[in-house]
Amino acid sequence: MENLVNPVFTVTRADKERLLGQRGLVVWLYGLSGAGKSTLANELAAALHRAGRLALNLDGDVLRNGLNRGLGFTEQDRMENLRRAAEVARLALETGSVVLCSFITPLNTMRRMVREIIPANDLLDVYVRCSYSTCAARDVKGLYAKAKANTLANFTGKDSAFEEPDATPALLLDTDQWDVTECTRRLVGAVLAKVGA
Ligand code: ADP
Repeated sequence: MENLVNPVFTVTRADKERLLGQRGLVVWLYGLSGAGKSTLANELAAALHRAGRLALNLDGDVLRNGLNRGLGFTEQDRMENLRRAAEVARLALETGSVVLCSFITPLNTMRRMVREIIPANDLLDVYVRCSYSTCAARDVKGLYAKAKANTLANFTGKDSAFEEPDATPALLLDTDQWDVTECTRRLVGAVLAKVGA
């Protein structure tokens, strides 16, 4: 019987990777709001572009305004938000792109789900670590002030849990300790080593 679920595509991921001269990879950046995920993903995207590498940015805020509009911040909605993001990343991987995913991904169950969707060989998980107090001092989007005033429900790190990873991430970037230049240097080095420098 014809297999309608898994069609066989004539042009494969390997063909596309050859065309681009790179290896596809999902870089999954996780950490508190304001830890530096989007900033570092942007720096990485610029460095990859300069190096002639094709990349796609998947940003939590952007997806929540489009594909994942309607989802909130309960644990169930966060899981669904991340499941869809990981599935999109997996599809984009088929183009041979480097997929830069910036999502808080607060719980270990969520990180495990990402690892179930993206094959281990294709995933570089990056913990963008920063203390709640530093993120609150930066308060890029004014969310920490709102959380302090109790006008924001389910805020990550306050009334919605953010767990320390229970598995060692491929890369840890401590943005409390290292500046943007140093974090970018480490990130770009790790990614180029995987996709082909
Ligand atoms: P997130 O995407 O994790 O919510 P953003 O990237 O939007 O966080 O904001 C992080 C803020 O912290 C930016 O204003 C950035 O300039 C600042 N920052 C300070 N040090 C660093 C660092 N080492 N890495 C990334 N961002 C940093």
